[in-house]
Amino acid sequence: MNSLTNRRKVIEQKEMTFWERMYLPAIVHGLAITLGHFFKKKQTIFYPEVKREFSENFRGQHSLKRDEEGRERCTACGLCALSCPAEAITMTAAERQPGEENLYREEKYAAVYEINMLRCIFCGFCEEACPKEAIYLDGDITKANYSRDTFIFGKDKLLEAPLK
Ligand code: SF4
Ligand code: SF4
Repeated sequence: MNSLTNRRKVIEQKEMTFWERMYLPAIVHGLAITLGHFFKKKQTIFYPEVKREFSENFRGQHSLKRDEEGRERCTACGLCALSCPAEAITMTAAERQPGEENLYREEKYAAVYEINMLRCIFCGFCEEACPKEAIYLDGDITKANYSRDTFIFGKDKLLEAPLK
């Protein structure tokens, strides 16, 4: 018979011994392995009741920072958006109006600031690019959801709470 390749696997069909036909030794061996795992240190935790301690380098949810007077630090310069490899950040800049000096630190601020969390890869480039120390990835894990729309995070989710 013609064969397509030269590869061949010779299979030996040995007669099973009495104990092999009983399957009992194999079952006992399998149970012993299972029991062994039962007494080993558990690798799993009861999340979300129990949470692992994160490394100091952990990058979590972004937060837009305020200064020591509670004013928004972001000046909508766009450097974070430019440095974002996932093109996840969009913003709309606005001019600070007279009387808003207590809200925004500089003359320009981000009226709209959005991060598409479905695109974000948590690389931290936005944090590194920001000249105003206005954005940090120092939050928690981004929570799961069933709807894609909920992953566009605006200032309502990103901006730090105002000082009291
Ligand atoms: S962490 Fe990286 S991917 Fe996510 S928004 Fe910042 S720069 Fe973009
Ligand atoms: S977060 Fe920082 S880099 Fe991004 S627009 Fe605001 S000031 Fe610029």
